Amino acid sequence: MSNNQKLQERKSNAIARGMGNLYSSFVTHAKNAELWDADGNRYIDFATGIAVCNTGHSHPKVVEAVQKQVANFSHTCLMVNPYEQAVELAEKLNTLVPGDTPKKSIFVSTGAEAVENAVKIARAYTGRRGTIAFAGGFHGRTNLSMALTGKTVPYKHLFGPFPGDIYHAPYPMAMHGITVEDSIRGIETLFKTSIEARDVAAIIIEPVQGEGGFYAAPVSLLTYLRKLCDEEGIVLIIDEVQSGFGRTGTFFNLERAGIEADIMTMAKGIAGGYPISAVCGKAAIMDAPLPGGLGGTYGGSPVGCAAALAVLDIIEEEGLVQRANEIGAQFEKRIQAVSKKYPDLVGDIRINGAMIAMELVTNGEAKQPNTEVTQQIIAHAQEAGLVLLSCGYYGNVIRFLPALTITDELIAEGFDKFDALLAKVLT
Ligand code: PMP
Repeated sequence: MSNNQKLQERKSNAIARGMGNLYSSFVTHAKNAELWDADGNRYIDFATGIAVCNTGHSHPKVVEAVQKQVANFSHTCLMVNPYEQAVELAEKLNTLVPGDTPKKSIFVSTGAEAVENAVKIARAYTGRRGTIAFAGGFHGRTNLSMALTGKTVPYKHLFGPFPGDIYHAPYPMAMHGITVEDSIRGIETLFKTSIEARDVAAIIIEPVQGEGGFYAAPVSLLTYLRKLCDEEGIVLIIDEVQSGFGRTGTFFNLERAGIEADIMTMAKGIAGGYPISAVCGKAAIMDAPLPGGLGGTYGGSPVGCAAALAVLDIIEEEGLVQRANEIGAQFEKRIQAVSKKYPDLVGDIRINGAMIAMELVTNGEAKQPNTEVTQQIIAHAQEAGLVLLSCGYYGNVIRFLPALTITDELIAEGFDKFDALLAKVLT
């Protein structure tokens, strides 16, 4: 039995199956865009822990900042004895989030908590009960964020009942014939059939759906939502948990729409792997809950703040926002070549900076998702020396989420491995 097999056996016995693992390669160490497992195998990482290590694994500056912080103090609780690192991080985020309206932030620990708190704040501010989310969206695994999520298996199946007054509208997916007009009509129908606009506290949307398949919301939908929310007094929550921190070639993806969110949620790329998340929004909205109504024991941990401050510096110093676009262009070239070679297999290519997707179909038919080949690719990625993820509600989208610090050489080597893996799966 290999070391990985032994560890997998121990894990299966010790950790509940609900917390499943995609690969049985148990990591011993990782550096930038490479990782190594318990049997000494090397992998090129095209997943970065689900869009978290945008600055690569163990970036020296993040390591240094964290070590320094841990040596000073690791926890006092931001709600008991606060510290400057959290203030500085909030000040920086408040200026980075698009829009001129003065902003305030809070810190929690995970993306799901950020979403939960955004909805709590919207309810407190409006005094209303309803929230509208989108089909195919993903917002987390806590009870409220799970209810907002628009995918059944594995996220919602077995876990109800969910909180009330959560509604879903269609999310535009051009490839599957769902248009912006369909989304708008869906919302208008909800207002007639399910909840009046004046009872809606918030509309929450991912500007690029992550788990849903890397579909970007057209700018026309985002501007429609901004106008609708302004007219109806609804809080517009933009969930940038996966798309933020340079990932899509702008600091936040919302920048391409030229609109301001009322509240933005962020996590993942914020701190290169240290558990901290943030909710940043218009000050008047953020200040609606009473003192003590928001937060948590570990919210805004000093270690997370130190890591996040280092990550912000690295993104700027190393030009990682621009680098995301260069990475996207390199992947696009390689995926186009795959598409030329297998025109019936590649149904769509979606390049949002370094949030890159290739949707697989059968016989070139958009309506025939090729879940089987996609899952075969994932099943054999480990032996090919790659870390790859799939997504999409048909499970037929290969997603590439490399570190924004990945070298051109590693992209080329990784994609050569992918080409060989695909050829193997298709024979
Ligand atoms: N929102 C979005 C858009 C996400 O992609 C995720 C995580 N995939 C979440 C929320 C939940 O984040 P977490 O897993 O940290 O709770």
